[in-house]
Amino acid sequence: MDLYSTLSRTVEPLVTRNPGRVYLFVCGPTVYDYSHLGHARTYIVFDVLAKYLRWTGLEVFYLQNITDVDDKIINRAKEEGVPQSVLARTFEAAYLRDMRSLGIDAVSYHARATTHIPEILSQAERLLGRGAAYVTEAGVYFDVSTFERNGELSGQHGTDRISRVTGEGKRTPLDFVLWKFGEFGEYTWDSPWGRGRPGWHIEDTAVTEKYFGQQYDIHGGGLDLIFPHHEAEIAQMESMEGKHPMVRYWMHTGFLTVEGKKMSKSLGNFITVRDALKTWNKDVLRYYILLSHYRSPLQATEEGIAHAARALEHIRAAAKKDAGEDREGRKAFIDAMESDLNTPMALAAVQKLAANGDIGALKEFGEILGINFLREASVPIRVLQEIRAELRAKKQFEVSDMIRERMTAAGITVTDPSL
Ligand SMILES: [Zn+2]
Repeated sequence: MDLYSTLSRTVEPLVTRNPGRVYLFVCGPTVYDYSHLGHARTYIVFDVLAKYLRWTGLEVFYLQNITDVDDKIINRAKEEGVPQSVLARTFEAAYLRDMRSLGIDAVSYHARATTHIPEILSQAERLLGRGAAYVTEAGVYFDVSTFERNGELSGQHGTDRISRVTGEGKRTPLDFVLWKFGEFGEYTWDSPWGRGRPGWHIEDTAVTEKYFGQQYDIHGGGLDLIFPHHEAEIAQMESMEGKHPMVRYWMHTGFLTVEGKKMSKSLGNFITVRDALKTWNKDVLRYYILLSHYRSPLQATEEGIAHAARALEHIRAAAKKDAGEDREGRKAFIDAMESDLNTPMALAAVQKLAANGDIGALKEFGEILGINFLREASVPIRVLQEIRAELRAKKQFEVSDMIRERMTAAGITVTDPSL
């Protein structure tokens, strides 16, 4: 498979560090609010990537962190008058529920920041030991000037990008916090340098080092995370042991805008996953999102989603009779996926597979994309099938056969699993 890496700015063949295994990490949510369509896009893309890689026979360890300690969580918990842990667990559960509703189920393990404090402290300690970090009154900071490759991922060097005042006793404005001193209520821990809580960037490297080691294959996330978040992750991890690159394939999903504008609560165009699912089902939403290449910006419109819904209905209507394997169509699908996860091309191949009646491929590829391309049995038919299964289990074959004959006469295909 070929993948574009933000680090090399080229499409490269995927060569994993361990033959047959892929270590994939994608930045997870900060659990202080509901997930929106932008999150849905990123997590659907990496869900499809993991499922496709598994389909090719690779073993994929897909790790995602949960940021459950953060200023946003502390502030929201204060506003709501609930403990931080209650707020974080509530929105973590909502996140997991939303993802399940979208058919996103490829993540192997979710790692909470708050259960990895010893790993975080160990990294801060090693960075201090290497002279890559320093302690101020406000906390432990990473010294960006000690890291030569800083700016390689974003392609932007120098400190001119940051207008913020230095403050907090930092040596340069780009330096970022590894451990912030203070009493933050429930989520405050002791450290050798003072009580406090972790910075954001170090959560990710702490969990990836624990489960993957110091170098791994793919790191994913939204485009907006390249700077400073991902740049900081590289600086931390590579400064710790001197191993380069921490990650070879950096994959970033493009921005999602709604009706031409960046999603924001004040503009009223902030679409949560749970609201979107009230109007559209997960098949339509996934189809719609995968109609754009993951690196392209996506301008979500009501019209666009309705168009996707109609296209999906077309495929389902076309996929009626099973005409066997469509080799060319299958190859076109795989070629598209191999080519930097080109899902719009893969969906074009799906349309052909439907037109040519390759039901087997539609089922198989539908599982990779998380989309049901075959018309689902209606409720009455499902009920009849359930009743027949029950009758057969009780060995009342006469009645179950009668139902099958009537269903067959009505043009409904009935297959029984062998007893
Ligand atoms: Zn992250």
